[in-house]
Amino acid sequence: MSARAPSVFISHGSPTEALEKDGYTAALGELGKRISPSAVVVVSAHWTTARGVGVTAAARHRLIYDFGGFPSELYRLEYPAPGDPRLAEAVAGRLVRAGFTAYLEPVRGLDHGAWIPLRLAWPKADVPVVQVSLPEAPPEELFLLGRALEPLRDEGVLVLGSGGIVHNLMLLQWNDHDAPPHAWAAEFDAWVAEHLARGDVESVLDYRDRAPHAVRAAPTTEHLDPLFVALGAGTEKERPFSIFEGFHYGSLGMRSFELREAA
Ligand code: ZN
Repeated sequence: MSARAPSVFISHGSPTEALEKDGYTAALGELGKRISPSAVVVVSAHWTTARGVGVTAAARHRLIYDFGGFPSELYRLEYPAPGDPRLAEAVAGRLVRAGFTAYLEPVRGLDHGAWIPLRLAWPKADVPVVQVSLPEAPPEELFLLGRALEPLRDEGVLVLGSGGIVHNLMLLQWNDHDAPPHAWAAEFDAWVAEHLARGDVESVLDYRDRAPHAVRAAPTTEHLDPLFVALGAGTEKERPFSIFEGFHYGSLGMRSFELREAA
C-alpha cells in the first residue's frame, strides 16, 4: 500500500529550466528524492481544451516540444516516462462521475509544462504519468476537477498542477534570469501565498476581483489555472509546504508547493 501522496503545484518557468542548474532545479530534485509516488496525474498550462477534458491513455509517452526559439539542445532531451492506461481509465471515470465530459487520448504525449518539471524531479522516468487537459473554465470548476482526483492520492498518486503563479511574458527580462521581481509581481505572489497559508481558498478562487495586480500577474489565465486544480485536490486540513519561492526574469513567479497535513 503506497503512502498518501501530496497535491503539488509547480511553477514551471522557462523551458530552459530543463538545462539549468539553479536553486529551482535543485528544489525539484529534492522533491523527487523525498517523494516516490506510485504515479503522477498532471494538469499543465500547455494543454487546454475548450470542450471536455482529455486524459492521456498511451502506455508510453512521446514528448511534445511545444516551444520555439530555444537552444537546439532542448529539442533533443528525452523523458521516456511510462503511461498508465488503467489509471487513465480510472481518472476519466472519476471525472465523468463528477460531471465532466472526459475522453481518453490514446496518442497524445506530454507537453513541456508536464515533462520538464517531471524530468527535474524524477529524472529516471520511472514514475508512470497520466496527463489531464486543462479545461477553459472558471477557478471554481477547476477546483472541482481537482476534487474529483483527490481520492487517488490515497493510492500514492501525486496530483500535479503545472503552471505559474505570476506569468507575464510581455514584461520578461529575458537577458537576466535572476532579475529582481517587479513590485506588482511580488505583491501578487505574496497575496496568493498569504491566503494559501491561511487556508483561504475562497479568496484565492476569487483572485480576479480580490488580489492586487491580478490582470498584470495573469494577463491570460492558463498558467494560474492549474493552481485551482491542485487546490481542489487538497483538503481543508492540509496546508501548503514550500518547494521553491522566487522569481525568474523579473516576471515569472516560480512559487511551488505541496499540499499535505503537517507531519
Ligand atoms: Zn508555461
